[in-house]
Amino acid sequence: MTQPKLELIELTKEFEGGSVAAVDGVDLRVDAGETLALLGPSGCGKSTLLNMIVGLEMPSAGDIHVDGKSVLGLPAGQRNIGLVFQDYAVFTHMSVAKNLSFGLEVRGLAKAEIERAVYEVADLLDMRAQLNVRASELGGSELQRVAIGRTLVTKPSILLLDEPLSNLEAGARLAMRRELRRLQSEIGLTIIYVTHDQIEALSLANRIAVMSHGKIRQVERTAVIFDRPDHLFVASFLGSPPMNLLRGHLMRNAAEAVFESAHLALTLPLASDAAVEGSARTQAILGIRPESVQLTDPAHAPWAGRVVLVELRGYEAVVTLELGPQSIKVVTLASERPAEGATVGLRFDAASCVLFDGDTSHRLVA
Ligand code: ATP
Repeated sequence: MTQPKLELIELTKEFEGGSVAAVDGVDLRVDAGETLALLGPSGCGKSTLLNMIVGLEMPSAGDIHVDGKSVLGLPAGQRNIGLVFQDYAVFTHMSVAKNLSFGLEVRGLAKAEIERAVYEVADLLDMRAQLNVRASELGGSELQRVAIGRTLVTKPSILLLDEPLSNLEAGARLAMRRELRRLQSEIGLTIIYVTHDQIEALSLANRIAVMSHGKIRQVERTAVIFDRPDHLFVASFLGSPPMNLLRGHLMRNAAEAVFESAHLALTLPLASDAAVEGSARTQAILGIRPESVQLTDPAHAPWAGRVVLVELRGYEAVVTLELGPQSIKVVTLASERPAEGATVGLRFDAASCVLFDGDTSHRLVA
C-alpha cells in the first residue's frame, strides 16, 4: 500500500472538559492528489477536524501524519497546510498583488522570489490583469479566487477548503467549481473539501466522507456511496430526496431472506447470512433510492400506494406515496407524474435495495 499524503489516527477533540467530543476517534487516509469531500450536518465536527489538521486546534488525543510523519509538534505556520474559509479573509484595502505576496513577505522571502510566486499564482487563477486592483473593488468570486491564491502562493502540500463557495451566488459558484477542477488537474493538489452542497461534493471529489456526531460514518468513492451507504445515517443524509427507509422485519430460512413490512414483502439476495444469525426474525430497515422505484399500472405491480403529494422539480417530479403506515418517495419524469389522490403501482429491484440492521443501524450484507 502506498503511503497516504495525510493520515488521521484516532483523532479526538473534546471541548468543555471532555463533556463534548467534537471529533471522536477519527481514522482517515487521504492519498496524494486526491480530493476528499467532507459532508455532515451543522455541528458534526467538520471545522474542528480541519482546524486540528492545519494546527489551529490541538487534539485531545490521536495523531496527524503528513507524508508518514507526525505534525503535532509543528505550529500552524510550519505544517505547510493551507486553509481557505468561506469568509474570504482578504485584506480589502490592499491590492490583489499585495494580498498574494503578504504571506511570503512575512516569511521573509527574497523580493524576486516573491514576485515570481505571485505571477505564477496570478496566471494559474487568471488574475494577472487584476494584480494592481484594490481587493475592495472585486466581486465575490474574484475575492474568493484571491483567498485561494493567497494560500496557493505558499505552495501548501495539502489544501483544506471550508465551505469555500457558500457565500457566492449560483453562477459564481459554478464558475469557481470549474476553476477548482482545473486547479486539481493542473497542480494535482491534495484537497479536503468541506461542503453542505452534495452536488458540489459529487462534482469535485474522488471520495466522500460522511460525518455525524464527531465520527466518520463512511468514506467511499463518490460514485458508490449514494447507492451503497454502510450506515443508516449516511442513507438518510445523502441525496435529495434521500433514500427511502422502510421499517420491517427480516425473516430468514435456509434458502433465502425475506423483508416484510406492512403492505410490502421482498425476497432479497443475501450474499451472507451471518448478519441475521441466531434469530430467524430480526428488525430491519430496507433502503431504496427514490430514483430506483418505478411507477406502473397498479393492476400489474407487486405493490400499490396512494399518491399524497407531487412536487415538480424542473423536468423531474418527486412523488410521495402512502404505503400503509409508511411513505415512500419516487423521482419520476415530470411528464409521467401521476395525479395526487391516484392509486399507482410500484416496482423495484431487490438488487437496488440496501438492508440495515434495525438495532445497530449498520448495513447488513453486501
Ligand atoms: P458547521 O457546519 O455549522 O460549521 P461543523 O460540522 O464544522 O459545523 P464544528 O464547528 O466543528 O462543527 O463543531 C463541532 C461541535 O463542537 C459543536 O457541537 C460545537 O458546538 C462544538 N465546538 C466547536 N468549537 C468549540 C469550542 N471552541 N468550545 C466548545 N465547543 C465547541
